[in-house]
Amino acid sequence: MMSRFDAAARMLGITEEMYYILKVPARQVMVGLPITMDNGSIKVFEGHRVIHSTILGPSKGGIRLDPAVTLDEVRALAAWMTWKCAVVDIPYGGAKGGIACNPREMSAGEIERLIRAYTVAMLDVFGPDRDIPAPDMGTGPREMAWLMDEYSKSRGMTINGVVTGKPLVLGGSLGRTEATGRGVTVAALSAMDKLRMNPYRSSAAIQGFGNVGSFAAELLHERGVTVMAISDVTGGYYNNRGIDISAALAYRNANKGTLEGFNGAERITNEELLALPVDVLVPAAKEDVITAENADSIQAKMIVEGANGPTSASADDIINEKGIMVVPDILANAGGVTVSYFEWVQNRIGYKWTLDRINRRADRNMKDAFDRVFETSQKYKVSMRLAAYIVAIDKVASTYKYRGGY
Ligand code: NAD
Repeated sequence: MMSRFDAAARMLGITEEMYYILKVPARQVMVGLPITMDNGSIKVFEGHRVIHSTILGPSKGGIRLDPAVTLDEVRALAAWMTWKCAVVDIPYGGAKGGIACNPREMSAGEIERLIRAYTVAMLDVFGPDRDIPAPDMGTGPREMAWLMDEYSKSRGMTINGVVTGKPLVLGGSLGRTEATGRGVTVAALSAMDKLRMNPYRSSAAIQGFGNVGSFAAELLHERGVTVMAISDVTGGYYNNRGIDISAALAYRNANKGTLEGFNGAERITNEELLALPVDVLVPAAKEDVITAENADSIQAKMIVEGANGPTSASADDIINEKGIMVVPDILANAGGVTVSYFEWVQNRIGYKWTLDRINRRADRNMKDAFDRVFETSQKYKVSMRLAAYIVAIDKVASTYKYRGGY
């Protein structure tokens, strides 16, 4: 995150003072959370919340439950959220939270007590006008419901705008589940348009068939792109005439969420999928899958980053030299945070939008953001990744200049 931030800051020529204003998190909170476990013992968990920036508005960012959570990781992810919101022009700053724990070894009751204790510890941090959490690794609608309930109790009224990613009945938004995959599709089609590629004559390979990857596969297929390969943690599935995406979805849903045994395709490895001669490669599984070791084998004309950080910084130069267009994560997967923002807007106005309105507005927002980043990359003659950081840093820095400091 920092190496790309530094490169963009240099290109923009921001002052050293501004560099530190944008670099140092605005607030970092660490709490100890003693929780009574089901066996009667008391275990203390460490929780974090880092507000990187509130220059553009209230801060926004997920809460992760994972044994590997550290303050350093949360700080990096919080800054990432600042740039992601700025690049898609959402009036939010960036934040991130985490609790070091293993949710897979905890009962629902233990997780609920942990989330409620964390919420109480963060009462003066969270707020619909201050800091708005969301799900991340290890959390989902269930945890967001507990957070909203605990926060609302403390204020003596229902405040559903304090958190996004809630169940629909609690004020969640239509379209949120598919929003990230949908945004990836809009980004891919916009990039294809710039490279004069006809979707009906183009092919794609998609790594990861979870929330982001499967919706991207379905929507790209709907728009005429031949999805030749998909994959998940069990390996890759390739068919040069195109995978039957509805059959793959039905198979996954009936097969405990995995593609293991799916027979509409030939088996390949996840590594082979990355090197296929397709037009569009969508890494939508996990971070650091494209590295200096395998970047040279990539044959795709463009990479649309559905996952966060799928390309390591060491691979950037190789990819750029090969002339592959990369639509970077902070732009390509920002469809999710865009619809989270719509959820918050709907909560605040006390009204529910139709799915059609949400999709239209989200698509327009993604397309506009893509165009801004593309123009910036032409203007500065830099990669789309650097251009996305330039757009974001410029927006936050110029807002700060108007607002001023002490
Ligand atoms: P998910 O858990 O729904 O799906 C992950 C998919 O990746 C699964 O199909 C899994 O089998 C596969 N996978 C896991 N390890 C793999 C491996 N080693 N090789 C190949 N495939 C592997 O997760 P998701 O919500 O789709 O998120 C995917 C990525 O997108 C993550 O990097 C996440 O941070 C990012 N992201 C998600 C959202 C969102 O709204 N869900 C928003 C922004 C970014």
